[in-house]
Amino acid sequence: MEICHKALPIRSKYKDISAKFCYREKGHKGSCDEFHYLAHLEKNFPRVANKIKRDATKTTGAAWKSEDAGPNRIDRWVMLQNDDVLLRYGLKMRELKPTVVAKLREKAASYEDCMDVAAKLTWVAYQMPDAPACPAEIKDYLEARFGRFNISSVSCIVCREPISFSLFENAKRGKADIETAHRNPRTHNGSNVGFAHRECNIAQGNKTLDEP
Ligand SMILES: [Zn+2]
Ligand SMILES: [Zn+2]
Repeated sequence: MEICHKALPIRSKYKDISAKFCYREKGHKGSCDEFHYLAHLEKNFPRVANKIKRDATKTTGAAWKSEDAGPNRIDRWVMLQNDDVLLRYGLKMRELKPTVVAKLREKAASYEDCMDVAAKLTWVAYQMPDAPACPAEIKDYLEARFGRFNISSVSCIVCREPISFSLFENAKRGKADIETAHRNPRTHNGSNVGFAHRECNIAQGNKTLDEP
């Protein structure tokens, strides 16, 4: 499928080192939109839509509290820049602990990869056994990009047991029972991501999963 890819205005303070494009199909009707395929989840399951967006695009991880712990939730593509560039944006990488820097750098990914992750996760979420029905227009778009839906085929990428859409709503102490997971924890792109039970994701840690 060809993507529209029209550049959209960026309001972030990182706009000079960021990108933002329309990800609707080329030749689409109506206005350009970066995350149009999340519209139905945004309306009905905002927690799920926000999680997909956040996990796809931000350097989450530990709930860093102290000043030293470093910038929380930075766009992953911003973390591709070197220390000198980041300093111009007030991100003092040299003042952070090496372990924190390593963690932030490990989560760096290009804007394009992050956008592929967001769409791929949406495609996966709609195939969970108890997922809401996907509106036809969104389904057509996601299937054109990633292949036909196979409802109920989705499993935890770590334990391979079925994974339920209801787990998104099942939050303990602010942490959902379902997490975005990476087959190789150091690679953030569409082909390497999926969902995992929270305990499974914790158990996986920094290890790369064997190929299925
Ligand atoms: Zn467009
Ligand atoms: Zn699992």
